[in-house]
Amino acid sequence: MSEGKDYYKDPEIVKRMARLIAEGASMLSETCPICGLPLFKLKTGETVCPAHGRVWIVTSEAEAEEIEVDYVLRRIEYYAIKRAYEALNSNEPSEIIPWLNIIEVAERIKNLRDNRLKTKMETVEKSEVSKSRSEK
Ligand SMILES: [Zn+2]
Repeated sequence: MSEGKDYYKDPEIVKRMARLIAEGASMLSETCPICGLPLFKLKTGETVCPAHGRVWIVTSEAEAEEIEVDYVLRRIEYYAIKRAYEALNSNEPSEIIPWLNIIEVAERIKNLRDNRLKTKMETVEKSEVSKSRSEK
């Protein structure tokens, strides 16, 4: 990636990379999805890009699937909303009902998934808190 090369030329970025290493961060084999620079893992467990700060890397296939499912759900909802609006302006406004049902179901699935993700994240946060507490 040519963009990554430009970042390497930036003395500010080079300085930041040097500082990260000096602070005990380790360079990862993964690269930033935005600029292609190597990512660094801080002692706190956070993954950062020297140019973009904190980033989240999709590490597993399961995570990639989650993102894809979210995308599909959003597309379904978008399509249904458009069709519902068309029905509203047509000669058969009652045709809006099946589209509203689809929107409702998509919304419900999204909420269920959001709650599941929240629970997952809370579990991670809690274990991180207890880790940092025991380190002190
Ligand atoms: Zn970056």
